[in-house]
Amino acid sequence: MNQIQWFPGHMAKAKREAKEKLNLVDLVIELTDARIPESSRNPVITEIINQKPSILALNKADLADPNLTKHWIQHYQEQGQIALAIDAQHQLGLNELKKACKDLMVDFFAKQKAKGVKPRAIRLMILGIPNVGKSTLINRFVGKNQAQTGNKPGVTKAQRWLKIGKEFELLDTPGILWPKFEDPLTGYHLALTGAIKDQLVEMQELSLVLIGHLEQFYPGLLKEFYHLEDYHQEMAAAEILTSLTQTLKLDQDYTQAAERLIFDFRQHKLGSITLDRPIERVNIETNH
Ligand code: GDP
Repeated sequence: MNQIQWFPGHMAKAKREAKEKLNLVDLVIELTDARIPESSRNPVITEIINQKPSILALNKADLADPNLTKHWIQHYQEQGQIALAIDAQHQLGLNELKKACKDLMVDFFAKQKAKGVKPRAIRLMILGIPNVGKSTLINRFVGKNQAQTGNKPGVTKAQRWLKIGKEFELLDTPGILWPKFEDPLTGYHLALTGAIKDQLVEMQELSLVLIGHLEQFYPGLLKEFYHLEDYHQEMAAAEILTSLTQTLKLDQDYTQAAERLIFDFRQHKLGSITLDRPIERVNIETNH
């Protein structure tokens, strides 16, 4: 993980651009990946958002462990942060998200009205690290394929306002910030969910982190899913990777086995799995 470095110049530019956009809007939707709610949250975002009203939306809830999503939402709400889970891809939770935006602006518009200012649409922007689903959410909000999506980090577009009904105007270019982390586990979690390019990480090493996580929190899952031949509970992660390579008949190509495992995880084939776990809550039931 050490080889991943973010250039301070790029970070400063991204921060400046996000701040400029922020001046144009009433509120911010901070988008994260529900499988890694903390790892996909750039601490700089909190600093940039500062006093702006904001809603934290944990996207890709369809891929995450629902029990842990519930816990994370509760965790953020306890910190005074409005938070909810959405699945932009399948348009779930979007009405709740719109309602949360409206609720957040009620006081502001009431004050404006008292001053004699005519009501206007709520101006929104979406902010987040690459791959959390910003373009997908913009597309779904607007209802047409106006924003470009892709599985590659950092797709950018020209800036326009998009109308969402009569009530909202959305900046068509999301604010993009790069992930920022010191803890290597955060880096691994970002890589496992595809937020960091695969070329930057060693796939075998990455697969061992995933195997370790699955064995600890979803025991038996790998054994059952892949019908691992010589599996036993005391196996180390590297032994499981070896067993997987043998079971898949990959002739000691451990990298290919690692890639297959990571691919299956990303494709939701292994089930709904959350990688970031709230530290203070140890006995969380999982969905398996
Ligand atoms: P951006 O880089 O933040 O703009 O992310 P994109 O909108 O390009 O999405 C990245 C990938 O995640 C794409 O392959 C999307 O189809 C996928 N995606 C986005 N939202 C969801 C979601 O809620 N659920 C699932 N399963 N996939 C999603």
